[in-house]
Amino acid sequence: DRIISANLMMEDHAVELSLRPRYLNEYIGQNQVKENLKIYIEAAKMRNEALDHVLLYGPPGLGKTTLANIIANELGVNLRTTSGPAIERPGDLAALLTNLQEGDVLFIDEIHRLHRTVEEVLYPAMEDFALDIMIGKGPSARSVRLDLPPFTLIGATTRAGLLSAPLRDRFGVVSRLEFYTVNELSYIVSRGADIFGIEIVGDAAEEIALRSRGTPRIANRLLRRVRDYAQVRGDGMITPTIAEESLKMLQVDPRGLDQIDYKMLTAMINSFRGGPVGLDTIAATIGEESQTIEDVYEPYLLQIGFLQRTPRGRMVTAAAYQHLGLPMPEIR
Ligand code: ADP
Repeated sequence: DRIISANLMMEDHAVELSLRPRYLNEYIGQNQVKENLKIYIEAAKMRNEALDHVLLYGPPGLGKTTLANIIANELGVNLRTTSGPAIERPGDLAALLTNLQEGDVLFIDEIHRLHRTVEEVLYPAMEDFALDIMIGKGPSARSVRLDLPPFTLIGATTRAGLLSAPLRDRFGVVSRLEFYTVNELSYIVSRGADIFGIEIVGDAAEEIALRSRGTPRIANRLLRRVRDYAQVRGDGMITPTIAEESLKMLQVDPRGLDQIDYKMLTAMINSFRGGPVGLDTIAATIGEESQTIEDVYEPYLLQIGFLQRTPRGRMVTAAAYQHLGLPMPEIR
């Protein structure tokens, strides 16, 4: 696994629970999203109603699950967590829904992976707080409508476009999470260090933040690796030099790029003069799936301006050539 993978790894599980902010005021960054949610939460509480259904989308590790937990905390209700692929049959979803109490939050991660038959159960549940169940079979079959307590569905997905239109339309609040700034990530690293009782001095937090690809999950993971290094090679204190050395050893470069990023960028440069080159062609060249490139490899490279999407395909930018120390071809 890539150390800079934004996906949840085994080693992250326990740690993330202890690092997860519990209330909105501890949740760093995403200011626009927070401001909106604050108002909607306040209004729902004043009216004593369930909060509108919320769709959170954005790359992994940016804080969607965290935000779902925070919303439930701020509302003072229970949170039930599940994920799209975990709900295999309509009956599984029906069981989840009928066990909710009034105002509860149901969080469905990877909601774009819901089975179509399950998704159809969700429509009346979201719209009318009702469950339509079929009783009997054949000509005597009939549909019975069951009332559900008003609840809030929070769905999370990497891209809103992955959802079917009827599902997307049923969310009252749709929020996109953005990559974090280096400042925000520095703050997250310092906060993590505080919680773990690690001493971190000077610009060491920023050294880690710079390599965290805009993603809190990665920042927290790198912090732990740097801490190990600091304990073994130093006296436990994380200085900028310790941070730099250990991250170099982990083969994460000063912009957070690893060998896989290099492999993709150099393949595009060597075989296609830096592009434009189609996604599927890149995928075939480096032996990866197009979907993985689109969801995992390229969002951060696009964000930092190392890749550009054009109608004719992806292009390696001048900034990337410069970072790699390579001359840019004059004609492309
Ligand atoms: P996602 O559900 O989008 O994949 P998570 O909510 O699981 O991401 O976030 C991963 C980890 O990153 C969390 O456990 C938390 O420690 C940290 N984190 C995420 N967002 C923030 C934030 N805004 N402020 C501080 N820590 C955060």
